[in-house]
Amino acid sequence: MDQQRIYQIYELLSESQPIFNDTDNEWIAKGLSSTPFKALVSVTISTMTTDKRTIDASRALYERVSTPRQLLELEDEELASLIKPAAHYNRKTKNLKKMCQQLIERHNGEVPDTRDELLALTGVGRKCTDIMMHFTFSEPTIAVDTHVHRVANRLGIVHTTSREDTADTINEITSLQFKHHAHEWIIQHGMKICIARKPKCSECSLTDLCDYYQTRVK
Ligand code: SF4
Repeated sequence: MDQQRIYQIYELLSESQPIFNDTDNEWIAKGLSSTPFKALVSVTISTMTTDKRTIDASRALYERVSTPRQLLELEDEELASLIKPAAHYNRKTKNLKKMCQQLIERHNGEVPDTRDELLALTGVGRKCTDIMMHFTFSEPTIAVDTHVHRVANRLGIVHTTSREDTADTINEITSLQFKHHAHEWIIQHGMKICIARKPKCSECSLTDLCDYYQTRVK
């Protein structure tokens, strides 16, 4: 896709979707990212889990712990029961314990601020790392979840089958001026308009620029 079309898409998205700070974003309002440690734990809990369940699990956990050491003091059964609203809570319990041990051994209990160090932590993958780098450490990066992957492919910004490839490509072709908020615009567009089951193209302002609409709907 040529740069002019990409520019137009981001311009329209920026006009139709708010940034998280201008919304009642529940992650922010409910303290899920109030410290780097909580932000990291929340994103790992959120894998394969809805926002509502992630918020329920995280809030229950943060009533008991706010540091890696405090989390390690919990018995596995207790930790699993606190984060039980999340999918795969037993596996996440084991991963969180390992991750907290690594934070203490490798980083003196702090959350590292480099990609390589984050990716080396148990339970932290590419999406979690991109979210941490963007929202906690202010690096202009587009984190790719299922919504961003789907919308970017439908629009034709990328032509990829994996989220990792989407992340590589979209970060390469998006100019810096849009990188700060592209994740927020696309994710909200994907949740409200370009939904997974059936996109609401009749309500979308991007039809003229969208590969999916031009080839499969028009
Ligand atoms: S035109 Fe349809 S498929 Fe394309 S971005 Fe809009 S809602 Fe999604």
